[in-house]
Amino acid sequence: MQDAPRILLIGAGHAHLVALPDIRRRLPDAQITLIDPSPFAAYSGMLPGVVAGHYEPDQARFDLSWIAQRNGARLVTGKVDGIDPKLRQATTTAGRMGFDIASVDIGIQGDLRQIPGFVEHGVAVKPLSRFAERWTQFLENPGPVTIIGGGVAGVELALAAAHCIGPHVTLIEKGPRVVPELPSAPRRLLLELLAERGVTVHIKSTVACILPEDVILADRTRIASDLTIAAAGGQPAPWLARCLPCDAQGHATVGPDLQVTDCPGIFAVGDCAVILDAPRPKAGVHAVRQGPVLARNIVAVAQGKATVPHKPQKHHLKIVSLGGKSGLAIWRGAHVAGPWVWRWKDRIDRRFMARTGR
Ligand SMILES: Cc1cc2nc3c(=O)[nH]c(=O)nc-3n(C[C@H](O)[C@H](O)[C@H](O)COP(=O)(O)OP(=O)(O)OC[C@H]3O[C@@H](n4cnc5c(N)ncnc54)[C@H](O)[C@@H]3O)c2cc1C
Repeated sequence: MQDAPRILLIGAGHAHLVALPDIRRRLPDAQITLIDPSPFAAYSGMLPGVVAGHYEPDQARFDLSWIAQRNGARLVTGKVDGIDPKLRQATTTAGRMGFDIASVDIGIQGDLRQIPGFVEHGVAVKPLSRFAERWTQFLENPGPVTIIGGGVAGVELALAAAHCIGPHVTLIEKGPRVVPELPSAPRRLLLELLAERGVTVHIKSTVACILPEDVILADRTRIASDLTIAAAGGQPAPWLARCLPCDAQGHATVGPDLQVTDCPGIFAVGDCAVILDAPRPKAGVHAVRQGPVLARNIVAVAQGKATVPHKPQKHHLKIVSLGGKSGLAIWRGAHVAGPWVWRWKDRIDRRFMARTGR
């Protein structure tokens, strides 16, 4: 490969932000381009804290111009909508971009556009940066809030919103229970807390349509809602499956070294990818931990050296913020809760922001 390889980082996802300084340090002459639709990338770990009012929005977002400048990378504000592994080109809203090595870290979209009225009146929690802006605008004149999706992210957001605006929050889950992914004891704790904070929970409920000031359920229940948030239905961007080998859900399939199957020199990381031999739940912690291996392997490909495997951890610590400055930590079925858990998470998050935003 040439002395100054062209490296294209598609999406300012968590893994790319961790990898970028390492790539620059090890390949001082590389031409590195980072492309993202927004000049800011939100940090999901602190987003519920932004909604609750514990953080200012800019404490929980990465300034991509600054990060690019610090790391000698070119930042393009635009969206990729295709990649040609043979021609080594990406098609983007900012024109075609050639590369020698590319990496895709674009997350998943939480869009529920199949629900009538969602596009006009709803907002998806992903992309996080757009959602954070919308929440800030909403607080100028707050009203009732509805959150669609009773997974951990939906419950965290419901508790955060209730902390900020009071008991005017509704959570809608189409399955028979909220946070089904959690063991029963922490699940019960979250349910009790939702009830205590006055969050109305509808289970086994499907949204029929979204109006400017209401959500209508399939059973015709009408819920007052000035802001309707989708925290469910996360899907990878459709162009991935058009251009790269993907699983049935449209996540790019990658080998142990994070290179896309049969596409040497093209990597995929974070929520938009699945490691075929070691699939893991979609979580920021996994994306963050891929960062250093991604950097190492991009450098290895550029230098014609052997890549190394990423060894994802089997279990990861989940810390759920509980609206106020209190948290719930879950590790392999055991859980603890209290204000010290929130302070612990706050320290981890602030440290990550300080280190990664460099
Ligand atoms: C409310 C909430 C709280 C969460 N809390 C936690 C937590 O505490 N711990 C945890 O581990 N996980 C948490 N998660 C999950 C976490 O958000 C994701 O797993 C994590 O963000 C995935 O990171 P990523 O690297 O895949 O990309 P993302 O962080 O999703 O970033 C993707 C980037 O790609 C950009 N992009 C998108 N499309 C394109 C395109 N076509 N072209 C170019 N760029 C594009 C986006 O603008 C974005 O900047 C939470 C999620 C939510 C919704």
